[in-house]
Amino acid sequence: MSNKYDVIVIGAGPAGYVAAIRCAQLGLKTACIEKWHDDKKNAVYGGTCLNVGCIPSKALLDSSHKYAEAQHDFKTHGISASGLKMDVPAMIARKAKIVDQLTGGVKQLFTANKVEGIAGVGKLLANKTVQITKHDGSTEEMSAENIILCAGSAPINIPPAPVDNDTIVDSTGALEFSAVPKRLGVIGAGVIGLELGSVWARLGSEVTVLEAMDAFLPAVDNQLAKSALKIMTKQGLDIKLGAKVTGSKVAKGKAKSVTVNYTDKDGEQEIVFDKLIVAVGRRPVSENLLDEKSGVELDKRGFVVVDETCATAVAGVWACGDLVRGPMLAHKGMEEGVMVAERIAGKKTQVNYDLVPFVIYTHPEIAWVGKTEEQLKEEGREYSVGSFPFSINGRAMAANESDGMVKIIADAKTDRVLGCHIIGPSAADLMQQMVIAMEFSASAEDIGLTMFSHPTLSEAVHEAALAVNGHAIHGVNKRKR
Ligand code: FAD
Ligand code: AMP
Repeated sequence: MSNKYDVIVIGAGPAGYVAAIRCAQLGLKTACIEKWHDDKKNAVYGGTCLNVGCIPSKALLDSSHKYAEAQHDFKTHGISASGLKMDVPAMIARKAKIVDQLTGGVKQLFTANKVEGIAGVGKLLANKTVQITKHDGSTEEMSAENIILCAGSAPINIPPAPVDNDTIVDSTGALEFSAVPKRLGVIGAGVIGLELGSVWARLGSEVTVLEAMDAFLPAVDNQLAKSALKIMTKQGLDIKLGAKVTGSKVAKGKAKSVTVNYTDKDGEQEIVFDKLIVAVGRRPVSENLLDEKSGVELDKRGFVVVDETCATAVAGVWACGDLVRGPMLAHKGMEEGVMVAERIAGKKTQVNYDLVPFVIYTHPEIAWVGKTEEQLKEEGREYSVGSFPFSINGRAMAANESDGMVKIIADAKTDRVLGCHIIGPSAADLMQQMVIAMEFSASAEDIGLTMFSHPTLSEAVHEAALAVNGHAIHGVNKRKR
């Protein structure tokens, strides 16, 4: 058994590859084991995010958005476009190229930082020893002072709609359709279901989203969730709430279709689709990751149990990303990867879990950070709200992107910003400036006193902050001061 590394990372998704690179930067001899491989059995880095998650979904969202813009928005600008056609295989090939560039980029970063990438499947045994099963079936054992588990997550399958990777697909299959399905069903109105449903709706699918819960986007500030439902419905998504899928049957034959059964307030229902996307959430990939003697604990749902520093109960064994508690987001995993690497190197780095930003990349985008009004009401905390609609923001009007609003919530007594919620053009990037402000404990007044360039979408953030204290200039203040 070799002991030549200070740190062994299992999994090279955003949590794992970032942890490995940061460890190496800090002078630790680091290996990263990754099971994802290409046809030649070479490791492919980047995990769900780069291969079948954040990046490919955004590539398709951007392609389909351009098509929808050309179809519906160009004429507003006086541009006429006729004979528009969508070449789906070309769109998918463009996406694949971006994925290859980025996964190849991680490989280059490993080389540049001297991270040893190892192709194979890792399993944690006792005494911080890792067994690697290579793709030729051979095994090797290595141990290190520190092990970081970053095995990530996989789509959840539900018995009423078993994925066959043909008619019924998960999020990975939904990134690979070779043609636009006429009737597309999506189970789950979560972030992934709405993003993927939007892609295919923009390209012409009749999309029906079946969501078991009665509430739409319950984690989103209620006012924004209501507005999002209205906008998405207008865009052609038929979002059925309180619709729990109970069964499905794929019709055999040339023209395949799937009949889906669901129950709603009116009883048993049936609907037929040409393709069905199952997007009901993700589960941690913890099966076969730990030998029972490893000492690392799993919770009831299969997440590795860690404290706020991502340490497991075994000293020197850490876990981050989708494999552990908290939102399944690439940036959350990356920050945890950095924290763990720096803690191994003796620093006291922490992750500020109160300021994890969330984004839904529909059009318009929905982005938020911090507390919603509903959460603050539940906490019994007094707050003030300032909001500003994009319909009166000059830059948004110029771009014909005037749906949505910025909403900023601040503590009623101290004026400290507690939450920022945006639905509108470039919401993700606009919200990010508030993450920085909140990280520095900004008050609404601080944002109000900052100079914003004109004309920008960011001015809506400025005006919403001013509106918290009744000082908005370009909108009528609800709160008078
Ligand atoms: P993963 O990315 O899942 O990586 C884990 C890696 O570990 C994989 O490469 C896997 O092969 C490897 N592995 C697992 N077990 C072993 C083993 N035993 N040995 C060796 N290797 C192993 N998040 C966002 O923040 N923004 C978005 O816009 C966004 N969009 C998404 C869209 C879709 C369609 C999906 C599916 C997800 C999206 N996510 C998004 C979520 C994001 O992809 C995940 O939160 C992120 O990839 C988690 O990173 P991770 O490193 O923890 O795990
Ligand atoms: P998320 O976890 O955000 O990806 O969202 C997944 C969504 O799928 C949740 O809102 C669930 O309520 C929904 N869901 C899970 N199972 C079913 C089901 N059988 N029928 C309809 N919706 C479901």
